[in-house]
Amino acid sequence: MGVPLIRGPQILVCANQKGGVGKTTAATHTAAGFQRLGCRTGLLDLDPQRNAVLCSSQDLEPRKDRPAPQGWDCFSTKEGLDLLAPSDSPGGATLDRALAWGEAWDLVVIDCPPSLEGWTQAAIERASAILIPMQCEFLSLQGLASMLGRIGTLARDPWVRILPSMYEPEKELQRETLAEVERHFPDRLGRTWIPRDPAISEASSHGVSLFCHDPRAIGTLAYARLIRELHHGWS
Ligand code: ADP
Ligand code: MG
Repeated sequence: MGVPLIRGPQILVCANQKGGVGKTTAATHTAAGFQRLGCRTGLLDLDPQRNAVLCSSQDLEPRKDRPAPQGWDCFSTKEGLDLLAPSDSPGGATLDRALAWGEAWDLVVIDCPPSLEGWTQAAIERASAILIPMQCEFLSLQGLASMLGRIGTLARDPWVRILPSMYEPEKELQRETLAEVERHFPDRLGRTWIPRDPAISEASSHGVSLFCHDPRAIGTLAYARLIRELHHGWS
């Protein structure tokens, strides 16, 4: 596959006010996948827990060739991604400073903290596309409704997709929940779902993307499909 035909810098935001639903996983593997396709990609980790930094930790190097934007720490990953996170005392760290620093990027992927306020609000206001990872369980539906409600109030009209993450199609309850999501939000459910796959958590614990860790794992193939869907959907 050649270089994706993305026109101008795009901002892909992974957000959901619930924790543990796969935001960081989706952000890190999507960013790595686009970078491998030749897209100059930046990954912004806005969660103070810095899980995206931890998930990319193998051979992570501080960027020394250029000063980081004020209030941000800046690294480059084994796979060549620029990875930025607000500093421990992030005086003056704003999203616009980081985005201006990365003006040569084709794509910026933003990993949000589990909240709808603060950094998440700033990120979704600037998004060209929003990915909402969700687990297929009953309580997720409520969270989805408030997330989509908030996005509906934005002046911009980003491309929005719900991403079933850690999906186990053999479980009836999960199939039923996915059917409910489709019934309530038919235009928002993406075509791709990510299966629960141990290779995904292994890759994170080794600090590399799935594409490095196990190119043939079912989780890796699902992420490759997701990247194709994103590319065709909003470029
Ligand atoms: P969030 O950023 O929303 O808090 P994470 O991306 O950190 O969620 O995922 C929570 C946990 O689930 C992590 O340990 C991650 O490795 C694991 N995980 C995420 N997606 C999958 C998957 N498809 N299969 C197996 N484990 C997964
Ligand atoms: Mg996270």
